[in-house]
Amino acid sequence: MTEEVKKEERSLNFLEEIIEEDLKSGKYTQIATRFPPEPNGYLHIGHASSICLNFGLTKKYPGYTNLRFDDTNPVTEDVEYVDSIKDDIRWLGFEWKNELYASDYFDKLYEFAVTLIKKGLAYVDDSTSEEMAAMKGTPTEPGKNNKYRDRSVDENLDLFARMKAGEFADGTRTLRAKIDMAHINMLMRDPVIYRIKHAHHHRTGDKWCIYPMYDMAHGQSDSIENITHSICTLEFVPHREFYDWLIEKLEIYPSHQYEFARRNINYTVTSKRKLLQLVNENYVTGWDDPRMPTISGLRRRGYTPESIREFCDRIGIAKRENIVDVGLLEFCLREHLNKIAWRRMVVFDPVKVVITNYTKDHELLETDNNPEDPKAGVRQMPFSKEIFIERDDFMENPPKKYFRLAPGQMVRLKSAYIIKCEEVIKDAAGNVTELHCTYFPESKSGSDTSGINVKGTLHWVNAAEALVVEVREYDRLFRVEDPSSEEGDFKDYINPDSLKVVKGYAEPAIKNAKFSDRFQFLRKGYYCLDKDSSEEGMIFNRTVTLKDGWKK
Ligand code: ATP
Ligand code: MG
Repeated sequence: MTEEVKKEERSLNFLEEIIEEDLKSGKYTQIATRFPPEPNGYLHIGHASSICLNFGLTKKYPGYTNLRFDDTNPVTEDVEYVDSIKDDIRWLGFEWKNELYASDYFDKLYEFAVTLIKKGLAYVDDSTSEEMAAMKGTPTEPGKNNKYRDRSVDENLDLFARMKAGEFADGTRTLRAKIDMAHINMLMRDPVIYRIKHAHHHRTGDKWCIYPMYDMAHGQSDSIENITHSICTLEFVPHREFYDWLIEKLEIYPSHQYEFARRNINYTVTSKRKLLQLVNENYVTGWDDPRMPTISGLRRRGYTPESIREFCDRIGIAKRENIVDVGLLEFCLREHLNKIAWRRMVVFDPVKVVITNYTKDHELLETDNNPEDPKAGVRQMPFSKEIFIERDDFMENPPKKYFRLAPGQMVRLKSAYIIKCEEVIKDAAGNVTELHCTYFPESKSGSDTSGINVKGTLHWVNAAEALVVEVREYDRLFRVEDPSSEEGDFKDYINPDSLKVVKGYAEPAIKNAKFSDRFQFLRKGYYCLDKDSSEEGMIFNRTVTLKDGWKK
């Protein structure tokens, strides 16, 4: 894939082709998709791809998208996750038609199960899970029927009602679809559709002690909602046969399942289970730690919804798994931030410059907030006799073609004047403490009549007003491309240098920073204000560097 592919040139993906055909043939006049998260963790960048796909299709074509919480597993789910998921989808810029919960269909799903029993298509099985596994066969050997398979409809109805009534302990019985124990698709060998679990559910409380399995809930929920295109990831390909079987036997609305490849990016993990470990074991400060690949982490880091949508659009959808380079995500981010970020000057490791021939008290220099966006307006920067520049923008014995500051050399101070280094002041240990320079009053940016040409431009701040801020320099969370495929535990591959905290000396305009603002600290990178900021001090997150430092 090339980064140059522009939106209008992008061809239809395979789902768009299917949908255009369906609309053209009159099969549907509008489409319905759904995004079905399990509320057992925060959404990550992989989910963003599914969100952009599902919601994107119904933005493009007539129809709507439901948000359906797939909350059929009572144990791992939580309202905290429900709230964060809604927040994240809205932040990404999408709105659902209906907010729905698979658990709202528990009564309906129970009826469906009873219908299957009545049709002789489901039975209560008393086997333990070990016994069941032993009878299941292998991909090359058929499974075997057990004695429970021939139970009468009445006995099954009675036992299933008693399962629901709470008469039996967890794991002692299940309800299974009665299909074919010799089926070539292992998932069609009498799959379990209900299990006993005496557990409190975050929405239905203690009403239920039997819960439908994923396959028993998912397709039926799609059907209840008249979903036309039910999009999921590739691991569900083998499930499609059972999905269709249930719809056919129950004679309900025929939703169709389509599959696309999971999207994962390198130098991170995108599995909620693994992300939860990082949170619980304090490798990160929380789900929204700016190093996390979660939507909330990316948001706190300073990502924009536009850049994430653009990324998802560019990678498109595929039918084969592959890992996408995080460099492309960062490329999309830089592209957007360059357009919207306000430019500010912040010096990280200062050395003082004294301008010996500057005779005014001070002056205010006016400069653009963002040269890419005239509407961003201007700001004022104080300038006086004492300023800070970056220590490593000076070299006492520079090599050839060194265009920054050195004894006898000239540089431009960004949006200010040209200065020339006249004298280097050192302490007893030989460290540079001050640089004494002269400036050229007629070289002021915007009205330069000095006729002097310099190659280097440095960022600077006025010493008297420099505001000390904390800067959190983030890097990739893992030091290998695919931590999950490495030997041993994925956490062994965490990058020990994923966070460096440094001090910054910022120009005073930074005082007005809001959380929604995006900044480019000149020659440094893109930054945003972090929520940990307080009266005591401002804290900035490095969103991304100006250039990709990882590129070979
Ligand atoms: P995880 O393995 O992180 O727990 P999941 O698939 O169990 O992911 P769900 O909450 O069930 O998470 O996912 C909601 C939707 O998002 C599903 O339709 C799922 O297919 C999709 N999805 C999850 N991860 C990805 C991914 N990496 N790329 C694309 N789609 C994804
Ligand atoms: Mg899942």
